[in-house]
Amino acid sequence: MISYKSNAELDLMRHAGRILGETLAYLQGFARPGVTLLEIDREADRFIRGYGCIPGFKGYEGFPNSVCTSVNEQVVHGIPSNRKLREGDLLSLDCGLIHHGFWADAGVSLPVGTLSPLAKRLLDVTREALEIGIAQARVGNRVGDISAAVQGHVEAAGFAVVRQFTGHGIGRDMHEEPPVPNFGIAGHGPVLKPGMVIAIEPMVNAGSPEVAVLGDGWTVVTIDRSLSAYFEHTIAIQEAGPEVLTAIPEAAATRRAAVL
Ligand code: MG
Ligand code: MG
Repeated sequence: MISYKSNAELDLMRHAGRILGETLAYLQGFARPGVTLLEIDREADRFIRGYGCIPGFKGYEGFPNSVCTSVNEQVVHGIPSNRKLREGDLLSLDCGLIHHGFWADAGVSLPVGTLSPLAKRLLDVTREALEIGIAQARVGNRVGDISAAVQGHVEAAGFAVVRQFTGHGIGRDMHEEPPVPNFGIAGHGPVLKPGMVIAIEPMVNAGSPEVAVLGDGWTVVTIDRSLSAYFEHTIAIQEAGPEVLTAIPEAAATRRAAVL
């Protein structure tokens, strides 16, 4: 069942989203050669708790950390480790937090130093796919309009969308109805109505769309070990148009000093 948020609930989700946007802005500064994935996780945990929020991923279905770190052929759900980032890595961060019982969920792919031309293009196309999907998140449209827009942009660029994992409704639970797939048919699926909040999250592979889960039970990799990128925002469906709750501020680097 789809849950429609009241204005008071939306305000709580706006706050959650704003802190998550700040968190991702802060974490971007750690996408550097030599930084370990666990260092990024520690910073995420510290930053979120510093704002009085709960790092929602920690313990979620047993996930051990506060942020998912997925590198290169890893698609999503990578577990932070002592692995050091290297020049040219494509790092995907997925993070979620809880504020007064409401979730925000968002993520970015980031270049570590200078990317290969393929990785750069994959990153750009995936970011664009999210933007194009968000543009369809309008009252009266259907979920399939988002799905088809994302899929169309990705496939026109010669890349592939992952099908085993999807976006989702979000609110008191991280994963609510409806699923928001990155593939589909325009004009199909649930109608988007005011008060719905959804996470749109294109996962895009440079090669095969197929993925597998590693032996750790979490890390999703491309089956052919081709590169993968991912972007995600939490979006409120509003009469005035899509409201990106997890927008990443440009100038967060200066604000973080005041908080920490
Ligand atoms: Mg999500
Ligand atoms: Mg996420």
